[in-house]
Amino acid sequence: MTNLSKSMRSKLAHESKIAIVNPIAEIKSSDEHTIKTLFALPDGKQIEAVLMKYDKRRTICISTQVGCAMACPFCATGHTGFERNLSVGEIVDQVLYYSRLLAKHNEVVTNVVFMGMGEPFANYVNTWQAIRHLNDSQGFDLGARKMTISTVGLVPAIRRMSHEPEQVGLAVSIHAPIDAIRDTIVPVNKRYPLNILMNACRDYIEMTNRRVTFEYVLMDGVNDNDEHADQLAQLLKGLLCHVNLIPLNPASASLFRRASAERVYAFRDRLQQANIPTTIRLPRGVDIQAGCGQLRAQN
Ligand code: SAH
Repeated sequence: MTNLSKSMRSKLAHESKIAIVNPIAEIKSSDEHTIKTLFALPDGKQIEAVLMKYDKRRTICISTQVGCAMACPFCATGHTGFERNLSVGEIVDQVLYYSRLLAKHNEVVTNVVFMGMGEPFANYVNTWQAIRHLNDSQGFDLGARKMTISTVGLVPAIRRMSHEPEQVGLAVSIHAPIDAIRDTIVPVNKRYPLNILMNACRDYIEMTNRRVTFEYVLMDGVNDNDEHADQLAQLLKGLLCHVNLIPLNPASASLFRRASAERVYAFRDRLQQANIPTTIRLPRGVDIQAGCGQLRAQN
């Protein structure tokens, strides 16, 4: 940019970077609807992000950390351990990368989900700053409602988010209706057990009047029987919410198995009969390890 002074250019070169996530490998699912990208970061660490094409939607699933400290035993990222938080730029740049990729076909990013590697609420400040830039009308200009954060259930951050002005969607990884089960599959439950988590969600809904999504990964013989469905319906009764059932995707060295399709439908029907709006998340990109819980940055 020769229209800037030399001193300004050298200051910028010294203080800032352009395109800080560098795509080093990319794979497409066999149906071509899902693309997974491996990015190298300036310090050589690696992350993954995913682009999903559903009808007119172009949803990207981005990472907020290198690795993850939450250690959920059914998740591949949880097995890798935590390395570091992503910077604001590293988060935003994943979106810009896909935006440029889509622009070649006259398409745009329509939705951003913070559901890639890491726990977004364990990197709250950078994640929220990234959201501001993405939402800013002089920035990426994506509506806050087009963005969703998924959390393992970090209660102080849920409370903090309820005070934010941006109407970003909240998804909570509930995965079990009672502490005895949740303790074993979501270790952070020992710190924020279900009653404390549900109080925070109730307060969040009251303050924001926004519907919360509860994610529930169905695992064979662990959390998928009728009694679990009834307990979940009881737990969520009267709340402005929606349940998104996720049939477990295979993750590295995981001992857990996906619930049968029959169980998944029965679980949904039972929740719906109890007046809990419930949908099943379609598996996407599982053949390229780009499904939920399969990201682990391997070349
Ligand atoms: N740390 C955030 C984002 C995780 S990824 C969180 O915990 O919510 C988004 C969703 O995928 C979460 O609900 C997560 O529990 C789920 N997930 C993790 N491993 C999975 C697997 N093997 N199969 C299906 N879903 C999985």
